[in-house]
Amino acid sequence: MTLKKNTESKWFGYTQVSPAEKTKKVIDVFDSVADRYDLMNDVMSGGIHRLWKNKFVRLMNPHKDKSLLDVAGGTGDIAFRYRKAAGEEAKITVCDLNAAMLRVGKKRAIDRGYVHGIDWIEGNAERLPFDSRSFDLYSISFGLRNVTHIDDALSEAYRVLKPGGQFFCLEFSQVQNATLQKIYEAYSFKLIPTFGAMIAQDSESYQYLAESIRKFPTPENLSNRLLKAGFDTSRFYRLSNGIACMHVANKF
Ligand code: SAM
Repeated sequence: MTLKKNTESKWFGYTQVSPAEKTKKVIDVFDSVADRYDLMNDVMSGGIHRLWKNKFVRLMNPHKDKSLLDVAGGTGDIAFRYRKAAGEEAKITVCDLNAAMLRVGKKRAIDRGYVHGIDWIEGNAERLPFDSRSFDLYSISFGLRNVTHIDDALSEAYRVLKPGGQFFCLEFSQVQNATLQKIYEAYSFKLIPTFGAMIAQDSESYQYLAESIRKFPTPENLSNRLLKAGFDTSRFYRLSNGIACMHVANKF
């Protein structure tokens, strides 16, 4: 399904809400799941999210001289991979709407010995608390579908990137094969909320997860919207038959 511009702001999964309610509900979801978020990712994906994230960070071509802003960075999965590949001199900033997710991320960073070099900032992707032309790379992994006004987030990404900067997005997408699609539907609407109830004592948040994936724009639609936000090039790569998709856009 191709979505018209900005219709996402009215949907919290399959429930119609006001844009302000959507943002509040997204904060509630991640407040509720923060402590079990990493474990749930492994259980739900059978660990495949790790392979997607590895590939995503390789695509970013990490380098100590390239600063990274990881938006909706949550518990730090992308920041840690970037840091490992680029080294301790790399300047990394994690920005997230949710203080509980950042708290878990900071604790994980300390456990890894990453005491310096990663800044943890509470902020909204739609109004980033950073100066224009500040970063070489912008990433957003499994975050954009939760953002209320996607086009505002894309414009902000463009604004905070330096000329020559690159945008990277990793997000769930639409399965390409019809048979696999049926299995995936059953899995995500029946098993994922059940795992959510068992492991995080919260089936509703994981029901939202499954619904929000269906509401997210197609890769073609998002790619066009990146160009409308100002980016000069935009391309995408499907992963695992379209279960996930990586987007790359350049600011010349
Ligand atoms: N990037 C991490 C990863 O790949 O594991 C975390 C992804 S988690 C599914 C989604 C994150 O997006 C949550 O931490 C949530 O708080 C954050 N988020 C949702 N809406 C946001 C917004 N408007 N601005 C910044 N972060 C947002």
